[in-house]
Amino acid sequence: MSLGAHIKKSVAWLFPSAAIVHGKRHSGNSVEITFDDGPDASNTARILDILSAAEAHATFFLVGNKAHRHPGLVREIHGRGHQIANHGFAHRNARLCSVKEIIEDVERTQAALEDIVGAAIQRDFRPPYGAVTPGSFLALTRRGYRYVFWSIDSRDYATQSADATLANVAGRSRGGDILLFHEDYAHTTVALPFILDEISSRGLICDTANALR
Ligand SMILES: [Zn+2]
Repeated sequence: MSLGAHIKKSVAWLFPSAAIVHGKRHSGNSVEITFDDGPDASNTARILDILSAAEAHATFFLVGNKAHRHPGLVREIHGRGHQIANHGFAHRNARLCSVKEIIEDVERTQAALEDIVGAAIQRDFRPPYGAVTPGSFLALTRRGYRYVFWSIDSRDYATQSADATLANVAGRSRGGDILLFHEDYAHTTVALPFILDEISSRGLICDTANALR
């Protein structure tokens, strides 16, 4: 087990399950597709159209400084019924920052997203790099944040190919899974219609974190 996985397991054991989510399988037919690192000027609009065509909903873990640059895309994601959530303002690694820096970064993002859409949004946080430290975890969960991880990693950041990204997820989804993708890779966007089709062919629907939990 990697150190990161070990920390996650320890944290999940030590703290209430409500504070940490990583795609627990259930007998239902909902899965959650998540996109990190957006919004993205090249891909977001296309991703939204593909999701609409498939009648699928997703969760977008947005980077605050990108949201700040593309508020129209944030409103478009939110307006189409997808969940927008927190991926930090400057994509900082909790292992390389002080607890105070992480709190400021996450709170600044939450405020920016809520300001852009003009509404409160659920305090769902996906830590950049999946990095968790006991101090940052305690501080953020005390402020009402829930850590949202994933159960299926498309590894789109490593494959750099639509075919390989599809192959990494095809045949794997079951009810309750959370699938990890990234919004800033063109090959992920190319693979997405095929991924949604494959999920649908297995009798599963793509819903958001809000609806699933
Ligand atoms: Zn990220």
